[in-house]
Amino acid sequence: MTASPPSQTTGLDFDVVVIGAGLSGMYQLYRLRELGLRVRVFEAGTEVGGTWYWNRYPGARFDSESYSYGYSFSKELLEEWEWSEHFAGQPETLRYCKYVADKFDLRRDIQFSSRITAAIYGEEARSWTITLEDGSRFSARFLVTAIGPLSTPTLPRIEGRDSFEGRSFHTARWPKEKVDFAGQRVAVIGTGATGVQTIQTIASEVGHLIVFQRTPNWCAPLHNGKIDAETQARIKAGYPEMFARCQETFACFLHTPDPRGAFEVTDEEREAFYEKLYGERGFGIWQGNFKDILIDRKANATISEFVARKIRERVKNQAVAEKLIPRNHGFGTRRLPLETFYYEVYNRDNVELVDINETPIARITPKGIRTSAKEYQFDIIIFATGFDAITGAFDRIDFRGAGGVLLKDKWRSGPETYLGLMVHRFPNMLMLMGPHTALGNIPRSIEYSVDWVTGLIRFARAKGLTRVEATEAGVAAWTDHVKALGVGLLSNEVDSWMTGINRNVDGKTRRIVARYTGSAPAYRARCDEVAAKGYDELRLG
Ligand SMILES: Cc1cc2nc3c(=O)[nH]c(=O)nc-3n(C[C@H](O)[C@H](O)[C@H](O)COP(=O)(O)OP(=O)(O)OC[C@H]3O[C@@H](n4cnc5c(N)ncnc54)[C@H](O)[C@@H]3O)c2cc1C
Repeated sequence: MTASPPSQTTGLDFDVVVIGAGLSGMYQLYRLRELGLRVRVFEAGTEVGGTWYWNRYPGARFDSESYSYGYSFSKELLEEWEWSEHFAGQPETLRYCKYVADKFDLRRDIQFSSRITAAIYGEEARSWTITLEDGSRFSARFLVTAIGPLSTPTLPRIEGRDSFEGRSFHTARWPKEKVDFAGQRVAVIGTGATGVQTIQTIASEVGHLIVFQRTPNWCAPLHNGKIDAETQARIKAGYPEMFARCQETFACFLHTPDPRGAFEVTDEEREAFYEKLYGERGFGIWQGNFKDILIDRKANATISEFVARKIRERVKNQAVAEKLIPRNHGFGTRRLPLETFYYEVYNRDNVELVDINETPIARITPKGIRTSAKEYQFDIIIFATGFDAITGAFDRIDFRGAGGVLLKDKWRSGPETYLGLMVHRFPNMLMLMGPHTALGNIPRSIEYSVDWVTGLIRFARAKGLTRVEATEAGVAAWTDHVKALGVGLLSNEVDSWMTGINRNVDGKTRRIVARYTGSAPAYRARCDEVAAKGYDELRLG
């Protein structure tokens, strides 16, 4: 270890700059303030909430149980806040985020409408300089990225997209004012989790709805419901046990894989188990299913066949049902959309499904959408085309580390990280919910990672350190570990945002390993070990 320069940050604007005021950035601010640090959060939007600020599309809601999603760090907050539904809608979750910001007086250190375009490390001052869209600059010893795994929306590359004369919206850039669908001819492009929520919500409001589907997804019922007073009391009394359970499960959900394999039971028992899961709330059918359905093709085929049968039962027109059944991936190998009468939407007279594999979209015209078969006229086009996931928000910022190295160059063949938290040659930069970190039921992972980052900054301050950096060997070992964990997972053999594929973004046509797919407890154990050993795997100075 080299002799430490003084720890004061005199001459720097802040001790820590945080980018993003979603759940990650808000909690990070709260924790760093406890250390008495000068912190500024820069947020592109005009309000806190991140995902829940931007995604105002009709029907946007949780797939995590509301009470398992909220912050757990404040007993008072848990006592005060009441979720109205098992899976709260976006307006309620945004209200929650605002409530948290008010309660902990967070906004005074958040600068809104401030998109960061560049972040450059300077070796001399051992600090980061960030540049905003308007050209203003700020410096800080530490830089924490809280820019979101699903925060960079992507529009489809369809010729004529900007020529449309009606209204068009990406679901993650939905207007703040209410959109009136009455009597409107509406197109939805995309049938991922967001498309499914949008379609099932607007179908009964619109005049006519045409869904343009490229890849059908396996969907399962959400089974949402209001939380009555008695259940509310039970939830509140049970918070400590519930959060303890989330710490023990594979991906921090209330659900965790069943220890049995799909063929360790009789056909009847398997069928009964699937039936039970299909009738239960939330992600149980995905996260709480037999332990081998996401790694063994034959096991996966049993649940895929079960859900295909359900689709055929629920959709009256069997030709349409067949189009809604995925053929190129097994159940649960892409992000599972949870639905509420989604399949029944296709029994309505005012809804039509267009399979764009059969009749590709040729172009968007001033009046609507032209496929290889015909031209459809619309008043509104909704792009439910998702995000440039996990690395997308990083790619939009010009990150330059020690010696001017570009993060984009470093990650050209896929992300390389240390614990998903740090990058070699990017000293004093810490990442929240970036690549290679445990995600799952994300706020549980956010709380862990924020606490870890806070611990490291506390340690650095206490020891008078001004430079903390992941080593090349540490990054190589973690990146190899993450890649090894992904081997044999069916989801890693399928094109989806989870494998870094997005045909609407240049250079995102090759699969990468951007997700940590081990268990959250194993992830935390590894990070805890590093902290307990005084961060001696890092280069400290
Ligand atoms: C529709 C939808 C539903 C979801 N449902 C669930 C669920 O049920 N359960 C679950 O666990 N997860 C869910 N997620 C994932 C969700 O993203 C996380 O749960 C969580 O909100 C992530 O919080 P975050 O603060 O890390 O990121 P975000 O909430 O994405 O916040 C990142 C913030 O950073 C800002 N930002 C990004 N780049 C810049 C920049 N250059 N300059 C300034 N600001 C910037 C963005 O504006 C944004 O406000 C869902 C995601 C979506 C899109």
